[in-house]
Amino acid sequence: MSIDTAPEPGRTHDVRSADTDPDAGAVAFRPAFRAALDATAAAGVRVHEPGTEAYRRLSGTFNITKAVRPLAVVEPTTPDEVATVLRLAAVHGVQVAVAGTGHGATEQMDDAVLVHTCAFDELVVHPHERWARIGAGVRWDAVLEACAPHGLAGLCGSSTDVGVVGFLTGGGVGPVVRSAGLSSDSVRAFDVVTGDGVVRRASATENPELFWGLRGGKGSLGIVTAVEIDLLPIAQVLGGAIWFDGADLPAVLRTWSQWSSLLPDEGTTSVAIMRLPDMSGVPPVLAGRTTLCVRFAWTGDPEVGEEMIRAIRCVAAPLVDLVGPLPYRQLGAVHADPSDPMPVHEASTLLAAFDLDAADELVALAGDASGTPLVMVEVRQLGGALRTGPDCAFAHRDAAYQLFSIGIMVPEVAQGVVAATSRVHDGLRPWSRAGGLPNFCDQAGAERVRRAYPRGVEDRLARAARRYDPAGVLLAGRGLRTAADAVG
Ligand SMILES: Cc1cc2nc3c(=O)[nH]c(=O)nc-3n(C[C@H](O)[C@H](O)[C@H](O)COP(=O)(O)OP(=O)(O)OC[C@H]3O[C@@H](n4cnc5c(N)ncnc54)[C@H](O)[C@@H]3O)c2cc1C
Repeated sequence: MSIDTAPEPGRTHDVRSADTDPDAGAVAFRPAFRAALDATAAAGVRVHEPGTEAYRRLSGTFNITKAVRPLAVVEPTTPDEVATVLRLAAVHGVQVAVAGTGHGATEQMDDAVLVHTCAFDELVVHPHERWARIGAGVRWDAVLEACAPHGLAGLCGSSTDVGVVGFLTGGGVGPVVRSAGLSSDSVRAFDVVTGDGVVRRASATENPELFWGLRGGKGSLGIVTAVEIDLLPIAQVLGGAIWFDGADLPAVLRTWSQWSSLLPDEGTTSVAIMRLPDMSGVPPVLAGRTTLCVRFAWTGDPEVGEEMIRAIRCVAAPLVDLVGPLPYRQLGAVHADPSDPMPVHEASTLLAAFDLDAADELVALAGDASGTPLVMVEVRQLGGALRTGPDCAFAHRDAAYQLFSIGIMVPEVAQGVVAATSRVHDGLRPWSRAGGLPNFCDQAGAERVRRAYPRGVEDRLARAARRYDPAGVLLAGRGLRTAADAVG
């Protein structure tokens, strides 16, 4: 039995009071939850209750505004232990959430137990056959490190701090997506414990419907314990970022809108209007001012890539130019995402086009003179190899661009951040199209489902959820169950 409770001198487990300890008490007064946790611990699974250091660490979220307070965090070490957690949760009527790193928390977990996958740290690279087996607790950083000596690449996202499985169950749109495709298209198989507590394997030939739903359906059908992915022979790209002064923003953004629409598929690019704070780690030349950052990753002939990026370099004198030969191991440098948790308000909108008028509108809404409090307004070009790929629960492959914004929710500007976010996304509405990418929808429940999945995909996922999670144990499937009822 392994149960980690907060040390509370003079008190026993059942008399903790939520009045005196905001982190404790809730579980003790709810017999079903108490029974579920005790049974889970009695089955040998590590259970961390509120008030403990492990609970605090494992329930942490990257976006602090999405802080979660699950009933407890459980730390299974084998698929059978995950199955035990899910079965006991079903018996006691408790919901189960899953996290690998906390980078993508969206759901409230007050009535749920959180399964943390940190113990699933397996990472085996098969360089000759070009594939890797990766545990659910592993981050992209470790995969890139293990693959680099073999000149191989796993299709990570812009931040290599993100968890491999959380990223892949959302499809995964990375810095080389236009040449290499959606990251989950490179998945060979998942080891997963479905919501009914059964350990299964999902691939194109084993449980194909489950395999379909795990690529894009996030954690709505099961808790993945390991994934097997194809590796690509990419040792190096021509890549990095070029930063321009805010005064040059209109000209560069206009050029980028035309240039990106003509860019061959070997190139993936995005552009970000940035307002970086004056703080340590931020180069002084970029701090405390409006800048425009053009990101670029080219997997084709480097000489051709140099020709391509020349068109951007010619528009204005860059403040900083970091585009050059870049080992794939350092692909995170293209976006240089922050790694420390922050309180952020984010929003995303898919665009059908980003033409000159859209560029002018964005300059008006978020440019140097706009006074916007947003720290980043990004336009990512999609398309290329993302448009095609195996049928899976990831939808909206045909979107041309994604608009994404981030504001920091500190009290002085929080209201302004929310209003400015609406202004920017409403202003670009004439160029928008329906839907959202699963990894960028920060809504919860049914709202998230409606954005990420068109009706046909939603219905199919709902049917799969009813089959693989009949008791509705998985919190991530909550939004789907409404759809399942409608589907009948
Ligand atoms: C700085 C930053 C940069 C990012 N860049 C990109 C990007 O370039 N492209 C992109 O596509 N996304 C990007 N994302 C989004 C990111 O891919 C998602 O938030 C992803 O869900 C994070 O997974 P995680 O395991 O790290 O996070 P967690 O918060 O631990 O998990 C998030 C969700 O993933 C699912 N999940 C996690 N583990 C499992 C599991 N074992 N089994 C089943 N489901 C599971 C669950 O639905 C869970 O709620 C970025 C996020 C951040 C914070």
